[in-house]
Amino acid sequence: MTDLDLPSLRTAGDSWDITESVGATALAVAASRAVETAGPDPLIRDEFAVHLVSAAGPAWARLTDAEMAWLDGDEHGQRIHRVGCDYQAVRTHYFDEFLAAATADAGAGIRQVVILAAGLDSRAYRLQWPSGTAVYEIDQPKVLEYKARILGSHGVRPAANRHSVAVDLRDDWPAALVGAGFDPVRPTAWLAEGLLAYLPSDAQDRLFEMCTALSAPGSQFAVEAFNLKVTGNKQRWNRMRDRLGLDVNVEALTYQEPHRSDPARWLAEHGWQVDSVDNHPEMARRGRPVPQDLIEEAITSRLMRGVRQ
Ligand code: SAM
Repeated sequence: MTDLDLPSLRTAGDSWDITESVGATALAVAASRAVETAGPDPLIRDEFAVHLVSAAGPAWARLTDAEMAWLDGDEHGQRIHRVGCDYQAVRTHYFDEFLAAATADAGAGIRQVVILAAGLDSRAYRLQWPSGTAVYEIDQPKVLEYKARILGSHGVRPAANRHSVAVDLRDDWPAALVGAGFDPVRPTAWLAEGLLAYLPSDAQDRLFEMCTALSAPGSQFAVEAFNLKVTGNKQRWNRMRDRLGLDVNVEALTYQEPHRSDPARWLAEHGWQVDSVDNHPEMARRGRPVPQDLIEEAITSRLMRGVRQ
């Protein structure tokens, strides 16, 4: 079977809990943030990730181990998993910086933030927000409910005015967002991290159209466009399945559509001034270069941020 024949696990209108389908990918990226946070010289700190992931069960808890003991005896597996965790740390850092600059008084001074497909993103709890900042988190209901429940059980309180917007991004999410208090007249900082490939390409276009329509001048948009079709990434997930019993087939959860819009080009053509970087140079710049012998296997992506003109 070729990659293009891979049977999709997705259906129109499908939904999931945190350990199911696309929900489990939120656990996996949060586990990488836990690994980074527990490491010797962390680029980012997400103290909540370990709690959010471990609460999903013992196999998930093992994935948060900074020593990667679950990969003992598999040196190549550890190296490729390390690259995956390094990438997650670098992308988290890139978007943390974006949000800090967008909300800084000396910067754009934006006070309204929308995290699309927030998953187990704990930025509403862990970043320092200017007083009065509203953070809207959009994701599926059970995913958001899980995060609020686990963080609540640890006594963690949001550091911003957090609004949970439980809606599918293939549905009428703008109505739900406005219903939760979002004001399209005020400038907004949008974030789409770890999302696009899980949307059909027409839903991606609609998402960008709606974000643009809801963006007052001066709004900012940060996006990750990732490509999972690299051997190391597949091997990484296969190892999680074989060693931990976590059967998360990321490729079959994404929509492999060859004619998907290029996000940077789309945004540039629709009134956004865009600045973008490939993940490998960004990883090198942040002191986490991909080892030369793993370049072909390592996940590739483009990180971008735009300002609405
Ligand atoms: N952005 C978060 C992060 O980086 O930690 C989560 C990324 S996780 C890889 C993908 C997230 O996208 C999951 O939380 C999933 O529930 C969410 N997601 C995917 N498709 C969605 C949809 N159609 N509607 C709402 N959420 C969706």
